Amino acid sequence: MTEPLLRVENLVKQFPIRGGLLSRVVDKVHAVDGVSFEVGAGETLGIVGESGCGKSTTGRCILRLIEPTSGEVWFEGRNVTAMDKTALRALSRDMQIIFQDPYASLNPRLTVGAIIAEALIIHKLAKTSREMEDRVVQLLETVGLQPDHMRRFPHEFSGGQRQRIGIGRALAVEPKLIVCDEPVSALDVSIQAQVINLLEDLQAKFNLTYLFIAHDLSVVEHISTRVAVMYLGRVVEIAPSHALYTNPLHPYTEALLSAVPIPDPTVKRKRIRLEGDVPNPIRPPPGCHFHTRCPIAQARCSIEAPTLKDAGGGHQVACHFRG
Ligand code: SF4
Repeated sequence: MTEPLLRVENLVKQFPIRGGLLSRVVDKVHAVDGVSFEVGAGETLGIVGESGCGKSTTGRCILRLIEPTSGEVWFEGRNVTAMDKTALRALSRDMQIIFQDPYASLNPRLTVGAIIAEALIIHKLAKTSREMEDRVVQLLETVGLQPDHMRRFPHEFSGGQRQRIGIGRALAVEPKLIVCDEPVSALDVSIQAQVINLLEDLQAKFNLTYLFIAHDLSVVEHISTRVAVMYLGRVVEIAPSHALYTNPLHPYTEALLSAVPIPDPTVKRKRIRLEGDVPNPIRPPPGCHFHTRCPIAQARCSIEAPTLKDAGGGHQVACHFRG
């Protein structure tokens, strides 16, 4: 088997909570709790789950924007988690991120041209100012913007256009992998489709690999090759996209899917409403984290944590009674 582009092994991230006069660590938020997966070159892995499930923290730990507590991240056979600052800076050419809020991630004092040129300067990707300007124009056109937009500031653009600027900035260094951290969550539904279509076109054109993080299964359905569902820091199900949408195995995935509207009005889907809220990640429930809300939980579930097991065809599920 060939080495995947990205391999995440037993990733853990705990955020310390400090308190008292001496600001001692009094507790921990268990944000990511032993996550493992692989992503092949040219694939899109969708990562889905409710707020606080650890999906964005997982994406940021992969890029080392947040330091993982333990676990390993491998990119093209290189151990990202063991890299020093110099190696990480070089790696940022290969791995980029697009953020949920494009406005917050774009420096309001810089023109769009300067924002995109920044990455070219850092990685010494243009020899002359002429070459730099040509490349910025080319990138703007690639993401559906106009050459004269380079002289404008971020606040002069709509949300969708600002996300295109963020995508242009990420593309400037010709990355292999882009972590798309809820890139359409802040946009109107009609604009969401345009940005997703753009990302799909760019993937085909530049052979990009995406880790596409979203809180809604309907958003990742069309763009993802495979989808991982996360609950309270753990992956509870991972499967090829079609298998996950047509044959979900985990009760949590079933509940998430039941909330996704079906375009065909003749097809009815029974809505599964989960009781209660997502438990506090400072004190996740023992055993299966989902047992406090699971409609089919049994005594064993609150004692023993299920591990991901193979259900065939690349479908894996973490449930004692499914798969
Ligand atoms: Fe539900 Fe138990 Fe399966 Fe967890 S292990 S999903 S609580 S049945």
